[in-house]
Amino acid sequence: MTQPDQRTTRCCIVGGGPCGVMLGVLLARAGIDVIVLEKYGDFFRDFRGDTIHPSTLQLLDELGWLDAFLALPHNELREVGANVGGETVQVADFSKLPTRCKFIAFMPQWDFLNFLAEQGRRYPSFHLMMETEGVDLIQNDERVGGVRAAAKTGDFTIAADLVVGTDGRHSTVRRLAGFEVENLGAPMDVLWIRISKQPGDPPQELGTVNDGHLIAAIRPHGMPDVRVLPMSDTGTIAVDGRDRIWITAPFEHGAALIAPKGTWR
Ligand SMILES: Cc1cc2nc3c(=O)[nH]c(=O)nc-3n(C[C@H](O)[C@H](O)[C@H](O)COP(=O)(O)OP(=O)(O)OC[C@H]3O[C@@H](n4cnc5c(N)ncnc54)[C@H](O)[C@@H]3O)c2cc1C
Repeated sequence: MTQPDQRTTRCCIVGGGPCGVMLGVLLARAGIDVIVLEKYGDFFRDFRGDTIHPSTLQLLDELGWLDAFLALPHNELREVGANVGGETVQVADFSKLPTRCKFIAFMPQWDFLNFLAEQGRRYPSFHLMMETEGVDLIQNDERVGGVRAAAKTGDFTIAADLVVGTDGRHSTVRRLAGFEVENLGAPMDVLWIRISKQPGDPPQELGTVNDGHLIAAIRPHGMPDVRVLPMSDTGTIAVDGRDRIWITAPFEHGAALIAPKGTWR
């Protein structure tokens, strides 16, 4: 089926990440016609976040969605421990929070986005268009009046009173609209990798801090072998001749880890 050449909406949101989908659902819930464009065919983006924080859970509660959300598979982290310089310390205890959920929920971001999209589809004014990329802005005199979109079924235009760019860090909308980026800098790079959990690894410790290095390790629901390793720039990473990856950094026992090829990407 081909797309109609033209569509009209009150608000066109370019980018179906957490910001775009949430904004789309909230606007549709308020009765505003909204089109959300997402260039990929699904929400599956590994390593884009798994933690849903108590304040977000509170928001879901206020929207009346919390019970349905918590019925989805997830893990709950009620306390955070860390290994600092070889000693286990408690970093956070969420039991005193003035929120209904006194925990961080671990759930892959694609499950969260699918859940939000499902809420949106309850409203007739919510239109989520997957595999549809915002490629250009329509300029009416000095004003942005819509979006040119590209889909597998053909290109089309969307006339909109408001266009919102939620298309991530390499935003097309931001570039086309001429907004300048203010670079705040990032104090460290992040290496995000899957490695096997070892027998004896602490169950609730979220990280290891040692000698200026930081490593976080989390296990989202349904992924028993996932770990996350934000590293300071002084950690070393090397792939040897047998395609194993060596990560040298202050792990729990000061050891270097080996991950066979295929367990990381
Ligand atoms: C490694 C890592 C771990 C993280 N962990 C957490 C965590 O545990 N908890 C947490 O809360 N946050 C976490 N975050 C942060 C979180 O992922 C971001 O804050 C969040 O994804 C930002 O949402 P967004 O909607 O602004 O942008 P994005 O998530 O980047 O979404 C942008 C969307 O726009 C789409 N898009 C791009 N260009 C176009 C176009 N031209 N047309 C149509 N669609 C387009 C993209 O496909 C994408 O789906 C993490 C981030 C990273 C990188």
